[in-house]
This record gives sequence, structure tokens and C-alpha cells, in this order.
Amino acid sequence: MIEFDHVTKRYKSNVGLDDVSVKIDEGDFVFLVGPSGAGKSTFVKLILRELDADRGTITVKGKNVTNMSAREVPKLRRNIGIVFQDFRLLPKKTVYENVAFAMEIIHKPRKSIKKHVPQALTMMGIADKAKKYPDELSAGEQQRVAIARAIVNRPKILIADEPTGNLDPDTAWEIMQLLNQINQLGTTIVMVTHAKDIVDKMEKRVIAIEKGRIVRDEKGMYGYKEALADTTNMFDTVAVKKRDTFRAGFRRGGHR
Ligand code: ADP
Repeated sequence: MIEFDHVTKRYKSNVGLDDVSVKIDEGDFVFLVGPSGAGKSTFVKLILRELDADRGTITVKGKNVTNMSAREVPKLRRNIGIVFQDFRLLPKKTVYENVAFAMEIIHKPRKSIKKHVPQALTMMGIADKAKKYPDELSAGEQQRVAIARAIVNRPKILIADEPTGNLDPDTAWEIMQLLNQINQLGTTIVMVTHAKDIVDKMEKRVIAIEKGRIVRDEKGMYGYKEALADTTNMFDTVAVKKRDTFRAGFRRGGHR
């Protein structure tokens, strides 16, 4: 489903990924762990073709992403749902409208929207919140909306970038159950996380990246003594701003 073959990505003076080869099969549920600056975001951005690799080949759903034309990139991204730590819902749209929007922007027929949005909301257990606005919801409910939006177009792959980072442990666990359910219905999931407890409990495949290299790839444990806080989020506001501008750009790009 996703294959990296000797992939290297360098930034001017930094190594993003260094000769990474890995295969994620259809239906896998994979945790991507490692310290801040290890290369996790680079890995995700390469899958989405938000970045170009310097060397190596990336294949997603049998398509070579590395030499894909710009015209084909939106189609690639349509096959990949994304969920973020900070939900990224549109504040002036209702729950229903937030999820429907993901279908409208790719010109799905109204009939299909009317059918699939309620289905996605029901699956996420928030059908009764359809008319609410994001600021009327709890953090956990907002993340459920974000997941509904990410899966409403039935992507084959779901990327979750620290989806439980803003949630209390009980709520985080509920969200994990939903992701598990989505995975069991056949969606391949790649989840970037620092949540040690969750990784240890889920007993899924864990790929650990450090300094741009895969240092561990096995079923089971988080492998670090304690959750590695993502210091970028807390201290490096410039990096966060840059990243958020980048992601907002991607989101808007995707909506066109
Ligand atoms: P993680 O997501 O694991 O925190 P990243 O993939 O963001 O790691 O970063 C991997 C390395 O690449 C780090 O050393 C980081 O500083 C560097 N890096 C990431 N993005 C850029 C960029 N746009 N310009 C220069 N260096 C970058």
C-alpha cells in the first residue's frame, strides 16, 4: 500500500530521511514514533507528495509518487484521509457542513453527500451533533468530526498526526477505538504519536525513526521509557507557525 525504497530527503543542512526502505501493507495499522526532529513529518509529507524525495522511490497504492505529475497529486491525496492533533474544523460551519465540505470540494453529487455524511457521523457516534458548531463541542467530539471528515470519501489510507495529543486519556482511548474500527473495515492507518500508553496497549506495528533512519520496526511496544514530548510544538513557535501555514495551504489547496 505504501512503500519507501531507499528514500533520502535532505533539507539544506538537516537530514529529513536517510536511505529509508519500508513497506506498509494494505490493512496495516502502524505507529510512527521517535523523538522530535527524527523525520516523522518528513515521512508523512513524502507520502502526500507535499515534499519531493532527493533519492529513492515512494509508491502509494501501486503508484509511483516520486515521479507523479503535479496534475495527479490531488488524486493521490483524495485517497488519503488526514487527521490532526488540533482538529482543524471550519469554525463557521456546522458539524454536518464540515463533513459535507470534504465531499463538495471534490464535486460529489448531492445525493451521495446526503447519504454518506450521516453515515460517517453515525459511525463516529456524533449523529446528534450534526447541527452544532465546533465551539459547542468537547475536544473529543471535535476529533470525531475531524475523523468523520477524513473518512467520508472512503480513503484507502488514513494518516493520523498525533490525533490524541489534545485529549484526556479516556477520550484518547475512545478515539483509538474508532481508529481501530476504521482499520478493521480495511483502511490502512499510519499514526504519528508520542502516546506511550496507547502504543503499548494497542499492540500494533511500531516503526521508530531517529535521525532520519528507521531504528526499529516490530509489533508491540512504544519502546521509549516515557512519552517523548514533541518540543517543537511547545517551544519552537516559528516552526509551528511555518508548519501550520503549510498545512493550511495544503488544506485550502485540497479544497479547490
Ligand atoms: P519530526 O516530525 O520527527 O519531528 P521532521 O520530519 O519534522 O521530524 O524533521 C526531521 C529533520 O528535518 C529535523 O532535523 C528538522 O529540523 C529538519 N527539517 C524539517 N523540515 C525542515 C525544513 N523545512 N527546513 C529545514 N530543515 C527541516
